[in-house]
Amino acid sequence: MKSIKDILFHNKKALIRVDFNVPFNGERISDNSRILAALPTIKYVLENGGSCIVMSHLGRPKKREKKFSLINVKYELERLLDHVVIFVENCIGPDAKKASEELMPGEVLLLENLRFYKEETVGDEKFAQELSFLADIYINDAYGTTHRAHASTSTIAKYFDEKSPGLLLEKEIFCLKKVLESPKKPVTAIVGGAKVSSKISIIANMLKVIDNLVIGGGMAYTFILSSGGKVGDSICEPENLRDCKEILRLAKKNKVKIFLPTDVVVSKSFSNNDKQKEVDIQKIPDGWQGLDIGTKTRQKFSDVIKQSSTLLWNGPMGVFEMSSFQNGTKTIANAVAEATKKGSFSLVGGGDSVAAIKKFNLEDKISFISTGGGAMLESLEGKVLPGIKALQ
Ligand code: AMP
Repeated sequence: MKSIKDILFHNKKALIRVDFNVPFNGERISDNSRILAALPTIKYVLENGGSCIVMSHLGRPKKREKKFSLINVKYELERLLDHVVIFVENCIGPDAKKASEELMPGEVLLLENLRFYKEETVGDEKFAQELSFLADIYINDAYGTTHRAHASTSTIAKYFDEKSPGLLLEKEIFCLKKVLESPKKPVTAIVGGAKVSSKISIIANMLKVIDNLVIGGGMAYTFILSSGGKVGDSICEPENLRDCKEILRLAKKNKVKIFLPTDVVVSKSFSNNDKQKEVDIQKIPDGWQGLDIGTKTRQKFSDVIKQSSTLLWNGPMGVFEMSSFQNGTKTIANAVAEATKKGSFSLVGGGDSVAAIKKFNLEDKISFISTGGGAMLESLEGKVLPGIKALQ
């Protein structure tokens, strides 16, 4: 795969697929991190004498709707880039073509939402080709959509001789490789979140490279049940008991140490203010549900984390959105930050673990926070992502 650094942008137009699918609170963008993450590539092209045609999707529009227009992102992009951004109310067709023809080196053009065309998500050839007519070079910097074989993320690439990942995508690929292909040992994966079913194939794939597997959150209860424990009313997926047993067997075979919680914070109901206590995870009484890892578990997990040279974290240790059950996730987040400070490499990914890192203000204390939720999970499963394959 070519690097953006191998491409000459002088007097060339670069069509850059970014992920500007940002959340809104009314009319205001409530989190601009995705726009910030795309800036280095845009700036790189401009500084090297090229012009940028920026394209993205926003939301899941059924038709052309004002609230899904990328005009809502244009002003924030202008502010963050400190640069004028030209906006065109279409992504293909005569208007887009004219805007691209008139684009001068050093200028930035933002196209309208790609998903105003249903052709985008089905990976339509003609639509992809029409987009490709707008520019000389194709750059994909939208890691969050690389697991989708869409027109702008996958189909389009074959119409360009000059193509590469952007700086953000390059970093995502580099960090994942660092963990999956050449990690400094010992390697610890920390997995949590609500459901074990969504993480089984990831864990199975990770067992090939890791030394320790730390399991917390709701998914731990299915493991506990699979080895004969009593989990009360805790979240559980009995249909996955065999998968859990198989993971435990594979771990043993691969000499991977498994760390499951030994104590938990249980509550009478799924609420912040009901009766709570700490109990042995093997003996959760009926009528009680586990919503966070307990004090002894926090200590044990932190010790394992702090002794690791490579860390991968996906999924919270409890219902961290509620203040009564955030302490387990907070302790683990702090342990990852502390290990990073001492020289370990840490990669955090997946919507909820990233949200937890942000909640505890640790963003700048982690080696790399992945911008792709689903894309990162599929990479960890060992899948080749269509958006990355298309650039090869
Ligand atoms: P996932 O999307 O599978 O990573 O799950 C993330 C969600 O799991 C978060 O919203 C957490 O609140 C939730 N979660 C974590 N631990 C538990 C638990 N013990 N019981 C119920 N939900 C949990």
